Amino acid sequence: QQRLISPMGRSEDQNDNNIRPALLAEYIGQPVVKEQMGVFINAALSRKEALDHTLIFGPPGLGKTTLANIIAREMGGNLRSTSGPVLERAGDLAAMLTNLEPGDVLFIDEIHRLSPMIEEILYPAMEDFQLDIMIGEGPAARSIKLDLPPFTLVAATTRAGLLTSPLRDRFGIVQRLEFYNVEDLTTIVTRSAGLLNVPMTKEGAVEVARRSRGTPRIANRLLRRVRDYAQVKGDGTVTAEIAYSALDMLAVDKRGLDNLDRRYLEMLEERFNGGPAGVESIAAALAEDRGTLEDVIEPYLIQQGYIVRTARGRMLT
Ligand code: ADP
Repeated sequence: QQRLISPMGRSEDQNDNNIRPALLAEYIGQPVVKEQMGVFINAALSRKEALDHTLIFGPPGLGKTTLANIIAREMGGNLRSTSGPVLERAGDLAAMLTNLEPGDVLFIDEIHRLSPMIEEILYPAMEDFQLDIMIGEGPAARSIKLDLPPFTLVAATTRAGLLTSPLRDRFGIVQRLEFYNVEDLTTIVTRSAGLLNVPMTKEGAVEVARRSRGTPRIANRLLRRVRDYAQVKGDGTVTAEIAYSALDMLAVDKRGLDNLDRRYLEMLEERFNGGPAGVESIAAALAEDRGTLEDVIEPYLIQQGYIVRTARGRMLT
């Protein structure tokens, strides 16, 4: 069940493409981000300029990729996607940059995993739309400069803290996505159910929303499983009762916590007497990577008020 409710993307989620909002007006929740992006996009459009480079950060599954898609669509450009770990060689990035057309959006996911060498190439590209790379080796090596079309870099990261400050400073727009409340998740589930032709009552949607760990990706995933249950055990309609029994069968926590969340909380309580405990010690005790705890587990537990971060470590509330 840990995987079912994990906010990380899985191949199954590819089907999400038909329910992914394509326009800002369809992007649910995140009122501050939505309003600001609406203003910035319209201003750039009316000046006939590329939108300023935009950095989006927040835990997995909250809509970073979706927002990048929406920006490209609203700006009328193409979206070219890649990610930090995929861009290994200078040539990889150079190829992407030189293929851009004016007004395109280059989306780099996991930008915090970019190598320093690639980052160096990105600076002049972002600042002056200039590609400046070395070709060849030894005495024959020379640097070439190319003009790039005006484009927008949209970058996503779960760890804003890991970005180098020169990179961070080159983004004109920085947006932080927050966990969604039950009301917004209910709207998302209802919208997805409509697109997937799943009959669903309002209460059924609320039940799914409540157990989605504040995360649209999980909400959509649970919706699919609940739909199966409704077809087999009911008449196809997702009611509150159907949703409730389906999610119980799937062992999805009523509070929307996953296995790792629960193990984290139990560990903190039993092994560390409620804390404070350093994140390294907790990670070692759980045999998990510290980054996973900091990016995926802790943000939600903190937002829900289960734990706090203090100077001396994590504490149960
Ligand atoms: P991230 O890139 O942050 O990991 P995604 O953008 O891939 O997350 O979002 C996961 C899924 O959640 C998307 O496929 C989309 O269908 C849904 N989703 C995300 N944000 C929203 C939103 N604001 N409104 C409606 N659906 C959303």
